[in-house]
Amino acid sequence: MSYCTRCGSAASLTIPAGDNLARQVCTSCGHIHYDNPRMIVGCIAEWENRILLCRRAIEPRLGYWTLPAGFMENGETTSEAARRETLEEAGAQVSVDAAFALVSIAHINQVHLFYRGRMTSSSYSAGEESLEVALFHPDEIPWEELSFRSVRLCLEHYLADRQQGGFGFHEHSLEP
Ligand SMILES: [Zn+2]
Repeated sequence: MSYCTRCGSAASLTIPAGDNLARQVCTSCGHIHYDNPRMIVGCIAEWENRILLCRRAIEPRLGYWTLPAGFMENGETTSEAARRETLEEAGAQVSVDAAFALVSIAHINQVHLFYRGRMTSSSYSAGEESLEVALFHPDEIPWEELSFRSVRLCLEHYLADRQQGGFGFHEHSLEP
């Protein structure tokens, strides 16, 4: 049983007029509860030819290395989200250069967007959601201990582009 977030009455799965998908619709006030994909935004940031990674202090994938990233908040732009997440998780200030990788993960209703950026100073520190934060040379990336496939994809493209001397934009979709 689902309940209306507006009035607390029971909601039932119904296809609203003019729609083509079933939604939870309140049986009392008629409020329609849309359930849409969530946007996860992160940053691949460099300092003196090294890449900033965080080791996760939270599930899922606790203890694995990741790029600083998290759920976008209402009222912010995607580049603001990338900067905020990097500050919160890695204690690092970054200037963001450009969007770099967009990964659709339809089976879990998520879209991951990674920016390219540069740390504006050498300081970083583990935030609440990180066990530790470190800078890795490209040949030191802990490939076997990365948290998510989207993070691996992003790093692979980043290092390949970096080697070639020019960055592109990379769009992918991941299957289960
Ligand atoms: Zn209601």
